[in-house]
Amino acid sequence: MKLWIELLRIILKALGGSSLKKPEKLETPAAFGKRSLERLETCHEDLQEIAHELIKYMDVTVLCGHRGEREQNSAFNSGHSRLMFPRSKHNKTPSRAVDLAPYQGNVPGGVDWKDIGRFKKMVELVEMIAKEKKIKIRLGRDFSFKDWPHVELHDKHKGNK
Ligand SMILES: [Zn+2]
Repeated sequence: MKLWIELLRIILKALGGSSLKKPEKLETPAAFGKRSLERLETCHEDLQEIAHELIKYMDVTVLCGHRGEREQNSAFNSGHSRLMFPRSKHNKTPSRAVDLAPYQGNVPGGVDWKDIGRFKKMVELVEMIAKEKKIKIRLGRDFSFKDWPHVELHDKHKGNK
């Protein structure tokens, strides 16, 4: 009996320990490039806040912020978006959606689209940060067609400021 209790305690400790472990920030800080910053500035300030916190943990690039009518419909036509203008959260001013990707300097174009593990890690960090900052979001990860880079503000989220 005593042995069982001890074993249970060890298992619970291991489980609790792994789920409570907070990710570590980068030792060498990363910074957004000029294009990323320009794109980020077209986004709602709460999405900007998430991105600026995220880059402390992982080097990331901003693929897209606001999309105007022409850009949205060309994204629709090329299959990058499932919505036509003005139905995407990217079409709001400021944009209520941002597309982010892990940045790797040694990869052509900076983004390894096959590295789903890295996208997963990025999205988990976004989730953690949004929770900490009480920003309600929806993740493209949870869409039926899995849009890994996509982070949008929940319709109920009006803003923290
Ligand atoms: Zn998107």
